[in-house]
Amino acid sequence: MEHMSKSLKKLQSRPDFKDRYNDLRKQVLNDPDVQAFITNHSSEIESGMIDRSIGKLYEFTNQSKNCKKCPSLSQCQNLLQGYHPRLMIVGRMIDVQYDKCPTKETHDERKKHESLIKSMYIPKDILEAQFHNIDVDVEETSRLKAIGIAQDFVEEYNKGKRPKGLYLYGSFGIGKTYILGAIANELASHRVSSMLVYVPEFMRELKGSFQDSSLDEKLEAVKKIPVLMLDDIGAESVSSWMRDEILGTILQYRMLENLPTFFSSNFNLKQLQHHLSVSQRGEEEPVKAARILERIKHMAIPIELIGKNRRG
Ligand code: ADP
Ligand code: MG
Repeated sequence: MEHMSKSLKKLQSRPDFKDRYNDLRKQVLNDPDVQAFITNHSSEIESGMIDRSIGKLYEFTNQSKNCKKCPSLSQCQNLLQGYHPRLMIVGRMIDVQYDKCPTKETHDERKKHESLIKSMYIPKDILEAQFHNIDVDVEETSRLKAIGIAQDFVEEYNKGKRPKGLYLYGSFGIGKTYILGAIANELASHRVSSMLVYVPEFMRELKGSFQDSSLDEKLEAVKKIPVLMLDDIGAESVSSWMRDEILGTILQYRMLENLPTFFSSNFNLKQLQHHLSVSQRGEEEPVKAARILERIKHMAIPIELIGKNRRG
């Protein structure tokens, strides 16, 4: 510690140095953590070691340990933010080593977790949904069933299997997106990366970026993410291009590569098929819609969510 040795030098040049030094020494030796260290290492601590190391020991006593003195990471008062000191014997000295503090550990862990869940146009609160705090009323058997299958999915996925996803359908506000968020979180805590995509906005944006390369990048990301969740499919207005070139391409790729995919929709499968068969211009293309539906059925187990509206 540069400033420490400087202030010690300054101290040494003053006539009352001895008194001040003794005060400092007393303060250091009164510190319960220092005392514990000395007791635990009594056999290794030789005479003079404490006096030689008084600067380091003083530095140690002034830092927060186990985040006790810091309200948060950004208000960490230690020399090195997010790191707390530990005493150790190095040669004939006691030295201070810095380790990541518990708050920083948690913070870094959370950052890693967040980086595993990618999302496009999904509200933040949904991304915090967890299986263990999903509210379930006793009579809501469909919600229980969906959660059960979702939990099985994560378990099987972790064993290296590639089980089917879910096609969650039901009315607005029933909690479909919420369950998808909980699955994403559960996967992230097992280090599996997933992506939640709000389909109507995704399609709108793709239309806007038709001419530029960001379209390809977005499509590639959605195609290749280990676990994909297509939220609110059917709420978009359909064009043949979106259905065949975008949705069709994504599903085709994921099916062949065996990459699990989840869906949520206000429509059941039959209604979705009808929705996809009539384009904005009123053209009917039932065969193309049927082809998309075939893929969805191949990839996901349909479950209707019934129960109370969770919105509001
Ligand atoms: P949907 O996607 O079916 O329209 P959401 O998943 O957006 O419905 O849920 C609607 C609202 O209710 C959201 O604000 C969500 O956070 C909340 N919510 C959904 N499911 C639950 C639940 N099981 N327990 C508590 N809140 C929930
Ligand atoms: Mg939703």
